Amino acid sequence: MPVIVVPKGQVAGEHRVALVPDVARRLKALGAEIRIEKDMGGSAFFHDEDYGDDVSLAQDSAALYDKADIILSVQATLEDVEKMPDGCILIGFMAAHKQPELVKKLQQKKITALAMELVPRISRAQAIDALSSQASIAGYKAVLMGADMAPVFFPMLTTAAGTIRPASVLVIGAGVAGLQAIATARRLGAVVEAYDVRAATKEQCESLGAKFIDMDVKAEGEGGYARELTEAEKQQQRDVLADHIAKAHVVITTAAIPGRASPKIILQNMVARMRPGSVIVDLAAEGGGNCELTQPGETIEHGGVKIHAPLDVASQMPLHASEMYSKNLFNLLTLMIAEGNLKLDWEDEVITGSALTHDGEIKHAATRELLEGAA
Ligand code: NAD
Repeated sequence: MPVIVVPKGQVAGEHRVALVPDVARRLKALGAEIRIEKDMGGSAFFHDEDYGDDVSLAQDSAALYDKADIILSVQATLEDVEKMPDGCILIGFMAAHKQPELVKKLQQKKITALAMELVPRISRAQAIDALSSQASIAGYKAVLMGADMAPVFFPMLTTAAGTIRPASVLVIGAGVAGLQAIATARRLGAVVEAYDVRAATKEQCESLGAKFIDMDVKAEGEGGYARELTEAEKQQQRDVLADHIAKAHVVITTAAIPGRASPKIILQNMVARMRPGSVIVDLAAEGGGNCELTQPGETIEHGGVKIHAPLDVASQMPLHASEMYSKNLFNLLTLMIAEGNLKLDWEDEVITGSALTHDGEIKHAATRELLEGAA
């Protein structure tokens, strides 16, 4: 019977947890034994007693990690990995490009690390795709942040004191987060415009009630992602978007290109044309931001315009974020555990694609090149 262990996360400001009670019950039914650290779920409002008899509580890290086969985490840290048994399986977000020491430790301990950010984005793996589940939360939350900071109502209101016109919201980047932002802003009653470089998003934006800003700049890349724009395309994009940005009360930016810094779509002179009191919520802040003035993790003001660039947004809604993340982990575990037996299928592209390290080797090519290049 595989032993699944869930330590309490160590990353400051991270409120999500890797296992919720409902998933603990389902894992037990798969034939796993589950051990959690005391108060593991507390930051997402799940108490030890909520897990009932489906788990056992470990009082210290020696008891927690004893004979552990699989360790579930949200964000793995070096401190945690040092305590883990050699040869175990670790599943979680790894951010390998930012944590070379962590990768070295995983290699030394021959840990099989499955990184949730590496799960292939294929139809079969949609239920395992934690980037999508968490991006959807960020898109929703970004609209609430924008609505809270803007000096206007979102819906149209007819009151005794007069009629209030609805707010104008512009969403740039209509991937998973952007589409959820459009849906949320529409539910709050705003008039929404949207733009993305991938032509396929036009219909998706329109079906959610946004007006799509059409321009000739089209940049489908590989695997359903965008490619980087040429300098001429960037200029063309800015020329068209500048007027729309100037009119918006709230601009939500989510544009990203895998493996690259976020494209700078909103320049300082475009911010200068926005009306005072308007807000930019830059969800691309993790990659440096879509606005030239963005300071990741900060809120700044420029000519009366607020530029809000929150990091780790999904963690600010930890209960549902944990439920969704934990279900993503469960769906991955169903590929590995059957009738109480643990077996990694190295023919399965979901497993091979997610593998960061295995048996002392770095399996993920880009991380290997990055670390070997740095050596
Ligand atoms: P992402 O976070 O990498 O990027 C967000 C959006 O920014 C994308 O829609 C991209 O086209 C857009 N963008 C990039 N550069 C831009 C620019 N200069 N101007 C305007 N927009 C720009 O993407 P994501 O949300 O993680 O996913 C994008 C797409 O990938 C999805 O919409 C979907 O088609 C596909 N996907 C597939 C699966 C699956 O099949 N399992 C899962 C997730 C996503």
